[in-house]
Amino acid sequence: MICPLCTAPLDATQRVGRTTMLACSACSAVVTPPQDRADASTVYANDYALSSFAAASAERYRFFRFPEMQSLVADVLRVEPAPTSWLDVGCDRGYFLDELRRRGLRVAGVEPASQARAYARMVGLDVADSMMRVEGVFDGLSLFHVLEHVPEPVPFLASCLEKLTPQGLLYIRVPDFTTIWRTIFGHRWIWFQPHLHAVHYSPKALRLLLERSGFTVLWLKQRRPNTLATRRAYRLANDVFARTGQHVRPRFRDQCARLYQDVTGIEIACLARKA
Ligand SMILES: [Zn+2]
Repeated sequence: MICPLCTAPLDATQRVGRTTMLACSACSAVVTPPQDRADASTVYANDYALSSFAAASAERYRFFRFPEMQSLVADVLRVEPAPTSWLDVGCDRGYFLDELRRRGLRVAGVEPASQARAYARMVGLDVADSMMRVEGVFDGLSLFHVLEHVPEPVPFLASCLEKLTPQGLLYIRVPDFTTIWRTIFGHRWIWFQPHLHAVHYSPKALRLLLERSGFTVLWLKQRRPNTLATRRAYRLANDVFARTGQHVRPRFRDQCARLYQDVTGIEIACLARKA
C-alpha cells in the first residue's frame, strides 16, 4: 500500500493495542489498514431529528466550548489582512462559525452529521451536507479534527484549495499522534480511534502534506485545546444549566472523562496560506 500523504510505500507497521497500523518511514504518517476502518456512510449519516434534549445539550456544550472558540477566533483575526468570509468544513454544531458571524464575517459550513447540522441551521447558520453543495469562494477555511478522518487527504485538500480566494487561509487541527500521552496510554489515548481515523499525523507529516498540496505554512504547533478556562466554563455551564432544569448534573465518570481528555488530548494546530 502507498502512503496517502507522500506516495512512498507504507514500509513499516506500528502496533497499538489490538490494531496493527501501517507506517510511512518517509513522512512519518501512520495509517489505519482499510479493513479496520468503519464505513463512513454508516458513521456520519445519523438521521435523527433534533430533539429538544439534544438542542438543550448543544446549548450547554456551546457554553463549555466558549473559551476554546474565543482562542480559535483570535488566531484567525490576528492575520492581516483579516478574512471577511469563512467556510468551516466539519463544522459540527457551528460554534466556531457562530463566533465569526458575530464579528461580521460571511460564514458557511459543511457538516455530514444530520443532527449537528439541524442545530446549526436552527441558530441561523448556512450549513450544507457536503462540499459539493457549497457555492462561491472564501477568505478562510477550517478543518477542525476532520483531516484524520479523510483516507485520501491530497485530493481532499485540492478541493479545499478551490474554495479559497487567492492567499486564502487554511486552519487545520488534528490529533497529535506523536504526543507522549499517546505513547503512555496506547490504545486508551483519547484520540486513538483507528476505526474512525484513517490517517494519524505527526507535525512533520502534516507540514509535508500541506506544502505539497499548494499551501505555505504560517505556523504549526503542538498544543492542548482545552485550557483552565475551558474547565471553568464547563463547571459554570453545569451550574447554570442545572438551575434552569435543562440538564442533569454530570456524573463523576463524566467529570473524570473530561479531565482525562484535558490532560491527554494534545493536537497539532496549523495555519497555512494558499501559495
Ligand atoms: Zn508518507
